[in-house]
Amino acid sequence: MAEIKIATLGSHSALQILKGAKEEGFETIVVCRKHQVKPYKMFGVADKIIEINNFSDFWKTEKQLIDENAVLVPHGTLAAYTDVDEIKKSKLMYFGSKDILKWEVSRTKQQHWLKKAGLRQPKIFKRPEDIDRSVIVKFYGAEGGKGYFLANSKEDFDKKIQAHKGKRYILQEYIIGVPVYNHYFQSPMLDRLELMGFDKRYESNVDSLGRISARDQIALKSVDPSYVITGNIPLVVRESFLSEAIDIGENIVKSSQKLAKRGMFGPFCAETIITPEKEIFTFEVSARIVAGTNPYIPTSPYSYMLWDEQMSTGKRIAREIKLAIENNELNKVLG
Ligand code: AMP
Repeated sequence: MAEIKIATLGSHSALQILKGAKEEGFETIVVCRKHQVKPYKMFGVADKIIEINNFSDFWKTEKQLIDENAVLVPHGTLAAYTDVDEIKKSKLMYFGSKDILKWEVSRTKQQHWLKKAGLRQPKIFKRPEDIDRSVIVKFYGAEGGKGYFLANSKEDFDKKIQAHKGKRYILQEYIIGVPVYNHYFQSPMLDRLELMGFDKRYESNVDSLGRISARDQIALKSVDPSYVITGNIPLVVRESFLSEAIDIGENIVKSSQKLAKRGMFGPFCAETIITPEKEIFTFEVSARIVAGTNPYIPTSPYSYMLWDEQMSTGKRIAREIKLAIENNELNKVLG
């Protein structure tokens, strides 16, 4: 077999994926929008840069990537801008499970998955009439928290939804606590779960509202919190939370195995909120590398302890592919 290369779309966590692949000795390819090539050139992580105009042109490069013998490592941008069906029918080698995608993209299916995993979840309200506490109104599609708003009653909801006519949404109980994002890696080659790290997100404008006094917030009248992600901040959690964090990861993997062939494998993330009572609510799962792992180039404290060497999630992905190639079991890590 010709040398396997590692390819990804130039966005999200591509620098980390490509850097990790190079550290493991792979040649790398990035498919990148013309106006976004600078970082991939500057940091020297890509052996080849294929330029496209828009993310939606990504699949036009499929044949070229197949000819290069590339394994595609997916991330959030690929999931957000391309269709699950397109991913499923593609003949390009794909790292991770394709079968779990349909459980991830649908919010209702995802709630079912988390419920099956026995995790504590925020309550979902079916109709605005049922709102009896603060809820967060979330729209479908990964637009990075854009437009989400809080509502305390049906009347409040009716007023605020005016600006979002026609969009599909869910009404989720708003949990007062701190958001913590848990990163994991489920390894088919070593048959184990690895806790990779944690992050918190830096969201605009919700993370800056606290810098304005309540008096000024009231004076601003029209300011509503929004949750547009602008960056990720590394986090080490209280050690007594680790046991439950590991349980959460294990339970998500276990239930995925009942839902999809071979279950979910590779990197994934549980999005949680921890309350002052130390209850952990899991409100979402991402079945692939999340941008919250980006601060951990070259390593997180947890992956360093596990491996006794520096290990980013990008490098961990490449290591898994390398182990699979060495064992002649590449299919085990491809979806
Ligand atoms: P999401 O797009 O679902 O990841 O949510 C974006 C952001 O909204 C999160 O990072 C949290 O800051 C916040 N958030 C989401 N769901 C909840 C919830 N149920 N309770 C409190 N905050 C939430």
